Amino acid sequence: MNSRLFTLFCIIVSVSSNISEEYCTKDEKSCSEDHNKYSREANDRSVKIKKYVDLAVDQYVPCKSEHCSCHASVIDQDLAPFKDGITKELFDRAQVKATKYQIIDGKLYREKECHFPARCAGVEHYLTALAAKMPDLEIVVNTRDWPQINQAWGHPKAPVFSFSKTKDYYDIMYPAWSFWEGGPAISLYPTGIGRWDKHRISISEAAEKWPWEKKENKAFFRGSRTSEERDALILLSRSDPDLVDAQYTKNQAWKSDMDTLHAPPAAEVPFEDHCKYKYLFNYRGVAASFRFKHLFLCKSLVFHVGDQWLEFFYPSLKPWVHYIPINPRATENEIKELISFFKENDDLANEIANRGFQHIWDHLTDKDVKCYWRKLLKKYSKLVKYDVVKDVDLKLIS
Ligand code: UDP
Repeated sequence: MNSRLFTLFCIIVSVSSNISEEYCTKDEKSCSEDHNKYSREANDRSVKIKKYVDLAVDQYVPCKSEHCSCHASVIDQDLAPFKDGITKELFDRAQVKATKYQIIDGKLYREKECHFPARCAGVEHYLTALAAKMPDLEIVVNTRDWPQINQAWGHPKAPVFSFSKTKDYYDIMYPAWSFWEGGPAISLYPTGIGRWDKHRISISEAAEKWPWEKKENKAFFRGSRTSEERDALILLSRSDPDLVDAQYTKNQAWKSDMDTLHAPPAAEVPFEDHCKYKYLFNYRGVAASFRFKHLFLCKSLVFHVGDQWLEFFYPSLKPWVHYIPINPRATENEIKELISFFKENDDLANEIANRGFQHIWDHLTDKDVKCYWRKLLKKYSKLVKYDVVKDVDLKLIS
C-alpha cells in the first residue's frame, strides 16, 4: 500500500469509528432517541465531508511567500497557449478587443480613450510603478467585466489581458483594477471598491473585534442579483432566518422588487460588518466577484459557490483547506446541511477559517499584486516575436 492509500485507509477507519460512537452500539432497542439523533444519511455525509477535509489537508503543500511564487503557475498556464510566440498578427487580433498600452523607454502610454476611466486608473497605478524597470512592450488590457477570447466558441487565439475568466478562455489573467481603484460603486463605497491595502487592515481589525467565539452562528450574504446562482441561499434565508441572513441589495440595473427576488432591497453592509458572522458566502457575479478575497480577512469560514470563474489568486486557495466548495446547483436543503455540519463541527470550521485568513494575509499583499504584474509582463514580453515600435497615437500616462 502506498503512503497516500495508507493515509486514506487510516482516515476511513478513524472516521468509521467516530460514526459508531455517534450511533448506539448496544442493543438496538435500548438506544435512546438522543443516541439516534442523526440519521444514517446525515452521518454518511458527515463522514464524507471529514474525509474530504482530511485528504485535502493531508495533500496540501503550503506555498512559499517569496516573490509571489504562490501564483506563479497561473502565469505559466495562461501563457502556455502562446508558447510558440506572440506575433504582430496575434497582437493586432487582440488590439481590437480592448485597450492598448505600451511601455517604451520606461514610460507608460495608453490609447486616448478608456471605456472605464477609473478601471484604467486602477490598472495604471501598478503599470506606472513598474514601467521604469520593464523592457519595451505592448499589451491589450480588457477592463470589461467579462473575458473576450473563448476557445469553446471557436474564437481564434489572441493575447487579451482580463481580470477574470473560466478555463474556456484564452484571456491572460491580470490583477483586477479594484486592488487599487475602480471596483463596483455602491452606497458604502461611492467612488468604487478599491484600496485592497487599506481593506486588509480595516477588515482584519474587525476580525479581532469579532473572534470566533463571539461570532454569530449564522451564514451571511449581501449583494445584488448578478447571478441567479445566489437565489437558493436567499430563499433559504427566508425559510430559515435563524441559520442564514442572506438578502439582495440593489445594483444599477435594479428596477423593481422583481430584481431582488420579489422582496424590497436590503441595505448594504460594509465588509467589516461581515465579520460578525461565522459563515460567509461567495458567488460569481457576471464573472468572478471581487468580494472573495475580502471575506477571508474576517477569519470566518468562507463557502465558495462554483469553481469556474477565476481571478489570478484563486488557484492558490484550496477547497476544504482554505474554504468550503459548494456546487452552484446545490439545493436549499443541501446548503442547509453543509452549514449545519460546520455548526456541529465548530473546531474544524474555525481551523479552516484561520487557514483561509492566513493564506490571503500572507500571499495576497499589495506587494504580491505588484510582483504578479511584474512577473507577468516579463514572461509575456519574452514571448513577443516582433519589434515593439512606439505608437504615436497613444498618450503618455506616467
Ligand atoms: N458589497 C458590499 N456590501 C453589500 C453589497 C455588496 O460590500 O451589502 C460589495 C460586494 O462584496 C462586491 C460589490 O459590492 O464586492 C458588488 O457586489 P454585487 O453583489 O452587487 O455584485 P458582484 O460583483 O458580486 O457580482
